[in-house]
Amino acid sequence: MPNKFQNKVVLVTGGTRGIGAAIVRAFLREGATVVATYRGNDGVAGAFRESVGDARDRLHLKTVNVAEAAATEALFSWIDETFPTLDVLVNNAGIRRDAVVGMMSEGDWDEVLATNLKGTYLASKGAVQRMSRQRRGRIITITSPSGEMGFAGQGNYAASKAGQVGLMRSLSKEVARRNLTVNCVSPGFIDTDLIKDLKDDIREQYKNQVPMARFGTPEEVSHAVLFLASDEAAYITGTTLAVTGGL
Ligand code: NDP
Repeated sequence: MPNKFQNKVVLVTGGTRGIGAAIVRAFLREGATVVATYRGNDGVAGAFRESVGDARDRLHLKTVNVAEAAATEALFSWIDETFPTLDVLVNNAGIRRDAVVGMMSEGDWDEVLATNLKGTYLASKGAVQRMSRQRRGRIITITSPSGEMGFAGQGNYAASKAGQVGLMRSLSKEVARRNLTVNCVSPGFIDTDLIKDLKDDIREQYKNQVPMARFGTPEEVSHAVLFLASDEAAYITGTTLAVTGGL
């Protein structure tokens, strides 16, 4: 179904690497215009732009720290001036700073919560204001099974991911009558930079926990996001779609 998202404007936070980049690619393939933000890794962002070929004309890259309110507001003002609508927001930007709680620095707690949870609140606030006026829109947040199950050493990350689910469930109820849907996608272990620091034995241990006995790909996550953004998902809101190989 090519061009399923033609004339749609999609904002993807953290859209230059890993899962975010796969989501951006998938929307571009379907004809969307995509605004992809990133934190500051210009080299990777530039290479990503080149890799999308002719679709680069529909790809707008912006350096925006999702945790900063002023930067996020400036991004939304630019979107207002540049595009007639904002149709889809994908809250994807996220980081890990693992440590057991007893050893976790306040800085690592604050940075993870600010990026993963406050960042989701800030972008969702900007999007919902615009989408409410349009009386349509889709918000999709990339959470994690860590938020439900908890993983040792991920207290800050798990809290941020559980918080995202609570935030999205609440928001979905606030905006349902305005024809906006708000959902989460929860990927399992996906081979990206985010987990490349894991030691080989830990990777194997994680892999063995997955019933399908493999890590997922960023593309497999992108399919779930495009489904929730599609017309076919019009009656799905306030839920979480797991893409975990059965975890
Ligand atoms: P990556 O580390 O591969 O990519 C992260 C992206 O987010 C980059 O584009 C990065 O920009 C951007 N980013 C990081 N911090 C900020 C910030 N403060 N402001 C704006 N952009 C930022 O991550 P993944 O693709 O693996 O993860 C994407 C999402 O999926 C995250 O929310 C993660 O929690 C979630 N997830 C991932 C899983 C996995 O196994 N990989 C499993 C479950 C959930 P830059 O390049 O400039 O640093």
